[in-house]
Amino acid sequence: MIAGHWEVVVVGGRIAGASTAWALAPYAERVLVVDASRASTFWPQQSTWDRTGNLAWSELGLLDTVLACGAPRTYGDTYRVGDDVVEREYPREDEYSYRMSVSREVLDPALLTAAQSRGNVTVLRPAKARDIAIDDGRVRGVTIQHGGIDSEVTCDLLILADGRLSRNAERVGATAYRVVESPWFALLAYYENLPLPTDRSYFSLQDRSVLISTPCGDKQWCIALDLHQSLIDEIGQHPVRSYDRMVRADPRLGPAIVAGRRTTSIGGAGRMRMMRRPMSGPGWCLVGDTGYHLDPVTAQGTRAALVTARILRDRIAAAGRVSGADLTGLTDERDAALEEDWAYTEQIVAPGQS
Ligand SMILES: Cc1cc2nc3c(=O)[nH]c(=O)nc-3n(C[C@H](O)[C@H](O)[C@H](O)COP(=O)(O)OP(=O)(O)OC[C@H]3O[C@@H](n4cnc5c(N)ncnc54)[C@H](O)[C@@H]3O)c2cc1C
Repeated sequence: MIAGHWEVVVVGGRIAGASTAWALAPYAERVLVVDASRASTFWPQQSTWDRTGNLAWSELGLLDTVLACGAPRTYGDTYRVGDDVVEREYPREDEYSYRMSVSREVLDPALLTAAQSRGNVTVLRPAKARDIAIDDGRVRGVTIQHGGIDSEVTCDLLILADGRLSRNAERVGATAYRVVESPWFALLAYYENLPLPTDRSYFSLQDRSVLISTPCGDKQWCIALDLHQSLIDEIGQHPVRSYDRMVRADPRLGPAIVAGRRTTSIGGAGRMRMMRRPMSGPGWCLVGDTGYHLDPVTAQGTRAALVTARILRDRIAAAGRVSGADLTGLTDERDAALEEDWAYTEQIVAPGQS
């Protein structure tokens, strides 16, 4: 029975939504998370991060949950530019100085399980937020479709964590105020039993393409490819076919994939837009890609999602409870915290335009 009042309703239950539900649970009586996807859906968005990502997980109290997913920690990589190859070691600044990559099919359920372990978080899936009730300029509730039935719930705070293609953000009036069109197409697939090192990643930077292989579990690897649109146009081939051809042609990955096996389809996204929306308004807040979408080419989306969750958590923790917390000024706080990530990503996505 979901109808009734929830102090917090979170729409979207992946990195941003599940982490936010976990982080806010101590400050709310009841939290409802609804996610439109099925638990078994292949989610072709990667999640790899470096030391700064580890720090962000730690700040939310979720690093142990992430480490328990079993992905290896990597302390260096093989870096190929053209035909030149160098072995790099990451600077050992502290205990967080490693890179990790966890498949979303493992990471996202682990985060939802952690949120549910709080005891006052209910997860409904697949369930879709279909409409938002706004009264006197303030969000009051949401219509949720689950099992073919619509239920109306009310809430003190509606959190939208429904990703970069969110329709609900427009419904609450969170119009994007900064948009940068990206020329990069990002593709990935997972493999098993590759004869590659389990403690190092591999980067190959070629003309308008970046190929990355990261170990992400026991005998599991993710191979990702960023392709520039001008190269896609020049080749005149569907990006998925280019992915296959370019992975096979790579001197390190080509022989490896012949020895191993691809375990998922090749998926990804193109024609994406970097985008910033306001983070909060009366009765609502945006976390993760919904409010702040960085192009995946710099692999900072996970950290950005966690930073937005942490900023919201800190504000609510300062008030002691969700209801009554003052959420004004979060947009500026978030934009200041993520400015370097935005500038770095925009410079690669649209060089010379900022
Ligand atoms: C191809 C690709 C590669 C990437 N690689 C990296 C990387 O290497 N490193 C990195 O840090 N980042 C990477 N990113 C970015 C990263 O994946 C995102 O920043 C991150 O997933 C954002 O998480 P999120 O929880 O905000 O949104 P999402 O993961 O998009 O989750 C949104 C959820 O909301 C649900 N939803 C949508 N609408 C509704 C609705 N109406 N009702 C209920 N539920 C709804 C969806 O089903 C989904 O489960 C990559 C992205 C892509 C596309």
